[in-house]
Amino acid sequence: MRIDLHTHSRASDGTDTPAELVRAASGAGLDVVAITDHDTATGWAEAEETAREVGIELVRGMEVSTRHQGAGVHMLAYLPDPTHPGLEQALAKILAGRNSRVPAMLERLRTHGIAIQAQDVRRVSPGTAATGRPHVADALVELGVVSDRTEAFRQWLNPGRPAYVDRYAASLLDVMAVVAQAGGVSVIAHPWGRHGPDQPDEAEIAALAQAGLAGLEVDHQDHGADDRCRLRAIARNLGLVVTGSSDYHGTGKRDHDLGVNTTAPEEYARLLELAAAAAQRSGRATPQVLRP
Ligand code: AMP
Ligand code: ZN
Ligand code: FE
Ligand code: FE
Repeated sequence: MRIDLHTHSRASDGTDTPAELVRAASGAGLDVVAITDHDTATGWAEAEETAREVGIELVRGMEVSTRHQGAGVHMLAYLPDPTHPGLEQALAKILAGRNSRVPAMLERLRTHGIAIQAQDVRRVSPGTAATGRPHVADALVELGVVSDRTEAFRQWLNPGRPAYVDRYAASLLDVMAVVAQAGGVSVIAHPWGRHGPDQPDEAEIAALAQAGLAGLEVDHQDHGADDRCRLRAIARNLGLVVTGSSDYHGTGKRDHDLGVNTTAPEEYARLLELAAAAAQRSGRATPQVLRP
């Protein structure tokens, strides 16, 4: 069983449509794939349709932009009811923050002599519900300013670079609570990835486990072998589920091919058990894993 629990489509900042993503997952020999676009469930329906066609197991999820103790934290939420009003509200506020940031980034680029307009960003991001820096990067590529997303981030869009603008992110603990109310489970994405120096240590992760955290994404391209080893030990100590995933973005991110990291079947089974328990506690009609 090959299981990849973190991928992006054009519903956020991946380059495949949800249908193409699911087809690619099947073509890559995966048995299970989760669609986890940033801050939105808008790709789910199309992914579901294709999953039925190609016969792959589909987990519906999202990667929510949160903040905890001053640091950005990406929270993978699996199988929550997307119609839960509290979750809808939280996502709407994050998406509004994404949209209001774009004009500010473009203004900074124009200050630096780059003639870039909102329509240039819209043209390269058809189908997205969650406009982000990667789309501004794609517009810069199309305008011939840089050669690819990586260069755009390095020169313009990373923190400390001229066009970087911060945006609103929800409180991590609030999001964990609302995901639980919506009958889903929470897993911290790339906990020791590129989020600056404020990486959560074991004590902080223990506090999150107390607050209902289900798991940690240990095997991720942002983590070196040593970090993976230490994170795995922390997860074991705290009884957290260990996941491994690609964080695939189509052609938008190098070295993140589908299945480059995978989740062990027994860990996936535990995650689904926790999701089933959360669904029952919530009393909501949550999405179920779609089995071929
Ligand atoms: P945003 O959410 O709009 O702040 O953009 C952050 C997203 O950009 C992350 O979730 C990554 O998927 C993507 N990203 C960050 N750095 C890079 C990079 N160097 N190349 C491509 N994508 C990146
Ligand atoms: Zn992304
Ligand atoms: Fe992320
Ligand atoms: Fe991601």
